[in-house]
Amino acid sequence: MKFLLFLAIVLLVVWLWRSGRRSEQRSDQAAPPAPPGPQEMVRCAHCGVHLPHGDAVVGRIGLYCSSEHRQLAEP
Ligand SMILES: [Zn+2]
Repeated sequence: MKFLLFLAIVLLVVWLWRSGRRSEQRSDQAAPPAPPGPQEMVRCAHCGVHLPHGDAVVGRIGLYCSSEHRQLAEP
């Protein structure tokens, strides 16, 4: 009788482990990690450093790495 109980527990653990793995795989397929796309790089009009366009500060005559450089280039 003890052996049957032990077998039932082992089968339950295996079943839980397999269903957990299956749900992990399913969630991976549902939401694949977005590949990091190439970011457009721009050049600071004051110091010439390259930075992603999203981090650039937009000025009147160009893009800058910081608002400090925008003020220095565009007084
Ligand atoms: Zn700069």
